Amino acid sequence: MADNGNLPADENPVNVTEHSDEYFMREAMKEAELATDIGEVPVGAVIVAGNSIIARGHNRMISANDPSAHAEIAAIREAGRVLDNYRLTDTRLYVTLEPCIMCSGAIIHARIGRVIYGARDYKTGGDVSVFNILQDPRHNHHPEVTSGVLEEECSAMISAFFARRREQKKLEKLKNRTEAQIEELPN
Ligand SMILES: [Zn+2]
Repeated sequence: MADNGNLPADENPVNVTEHSDEYFMREAMKEAELATDIGEVPVGAVIVAGNSIIARGHNRMISANDPSAHAEIAAIREAGRVLDNYRLTDTRLYVTLEPCIMCSGAIIHARIGRVIYGARDYKTGGDVSVFNILQDPRHNHHPEVTSGVLEEECSAMISAFFARRREQKKLEKLKNRTEAQIEELPN
């Protein structure tokens, strides 16, 4: 079904099993876990050409001091290098969270053919949840969009991350309070 015409023959065996959207979303989730490991909000992305992952990315905004270092942007930059092209025509982008408006813009500039995302982002979503950038008919490029692939698992990852962070903050507050009390004790 997918157009594998751009791949060299040895990477394009006729009888290869085509991976499902769920398969690639799980790969994006692995990237999201890498973000968790470095204390970033767990969002991961992969870009696929034919049946192969050509680029990966995860959130690195805090660690890179870069507000644009979203998972999708990282993957788009890498895919551009791999394909040696600023257009990513005929590729598919899998991302665990609905793209924000910045990433939606980059997806359109890159001419990505299809976007598949997991969880909805009710705070900054750029597809349907808050803004409608990704599929705005006024653009001259219209990626096909599939939402809700492994939605619950993608969403649970993010909720767990924020729950852990709230817990950590609570513990820190408690620790600071205890330390302050100890300092106040007479010697
Ligand atoms: Zn984004």
